[in-house]
Amino acid sequence: MTLLLNADLHCHSVVSDGTLTPEALAARAHGNGVQLWALTDHDEIGGQHRAMAAAHALGMDYLTGVEISVTFADTTVHIVGLGFDADDAQLAQGLSATRGGRGERAQEIARQLAQVGIRGAYEGALRYVGNPELISRTHFARHLVETGVCRDTSEVFRRFLTEGHPGYVPHRWATLGDALRWIREAGGVAVIAHPGRYRFTPTEEYALFSEFKQHGGQGVEVVTGSHMPSEYPVYDAMAQEFGLVASRGSDFHSPDESHTDLGTLPDLPGQLTPVWELLAERILRAPRPAAHP
Ligand code: AMP
Ligand code: MN
Ligand code: MN
Ligand code: MN
Repeated sequence: MTLLLNADLHCHSVVSDGTLTPEALAARAHGNGVQLWALTDHDEIGGQHRAMAAAHALGMDYLTGVEISVTFADTTVHIVGLGFDADDAQLAQGLSATRGGRGERAQEIARQLAQVGIRGAYEGALRYVGNPELISRTHFARHLVETGVCRDTSEVFRRFLTEGHPGYVPHRWATLGDALRWIREAGGVAVIAHPGRYRFTPTEEYALFSEFKQHGGQGVEVVTGSHMPSEYPVYDAMAQEFGLVASRGSDFHSPDESHTDLGTLPDLPGQLTPVWELLAERILRAPRPAAHP
C-alpha cells in the first residue's frame, strides 16, 4: 500500500526560490492528489509551520523538509532533509550560516553581468526575492527573462550564471558532514537530491555516495522532476548498491517554469524502500474527522 502513496517530498516556495506561497503549494499538491507532502526550501525552514498548517487544513499528511546547499569535491550538491524537528536550534543556526554570503555573492553576480552590458541586475533580481536572506540565481534568471535578455530560465542557465559564463560566482556552501549532522541531530533523515544533475565522474559520484553513507545519510532521490526518466533505473540501482531508501519529489518551483507539477511523477520502482517507511513515526498526520460510532 505505502508504495502507491502519492508522496511529493521536494518543492520550493517564496521562502526560497519558488513563486508560490506555502499555502498555494499545499492547495496545488492536494488538488493534484498528493497524500504526503514536504516543502523543501533551499537553506531555509522559515516556511515549515505555515506549510504544515496548510497541509493539515486540507487533510494532507506532512513531513518537514529542507534542501541544503553543500560543497563536495568543489561541486555544489543538494541534500534534502526530511522529518526533522522544525524548531531545532542547531539546524536553524547551520542554515542561517549557509545563507550568509548570498547577498555579497549576488552583488558579485550583478558586477559580472554589468561587464557584459546587463546593468541593474541586482536590483532587478531583488524584485523577485520573497526572503531577503535567500537571493538566488533563480531570481536573477527571472529578471533576465522578464527584461527580454533570454526567452526562458533554461536559456539563462545555458548562457549565464553557470561555470564558464558571465555571472558565475563560485561559492562555498556547508560541508557534507555538517549538513548531515544538522539533519540527523534534529531527528531527520538525509537524502541525496537529484544525483543525476551533478557532473561527477563515476569515481566522484561513488565518493559522494560512500561519504554520504559514512556520515549517516540514508536516502536518495530516484524519481524526481530533476531526473530524466532514463535516470530512474540508474539511481534505483545505486540505492540498492548503497542500501539507501528512495525518495520521490517534483522539485516544483513555479507554474510558469517547472515542467513537472506537484504529485504527477511515476511511482518509485517497486523493489525500493520508500523514505516515508523509514519516517513513519515522523509524519505529521492530518487530523482525521472522528468516525461515527
Ligand atoms: P543558487 O542556490 O543561488 O545557486 O541557485 C540554484 C537554483 O538555480 C536551483 O535550485 C534551481 O532552482 C536553479 N537552477 C540551477 N540550474 C538551473 C537550470 N539549468 N535550469 C533552471 N534552473 C536552474
Ligand atoms: Mn531552486
Ligand atoms: Mn536542487
Ligand atoms: Mn530543489
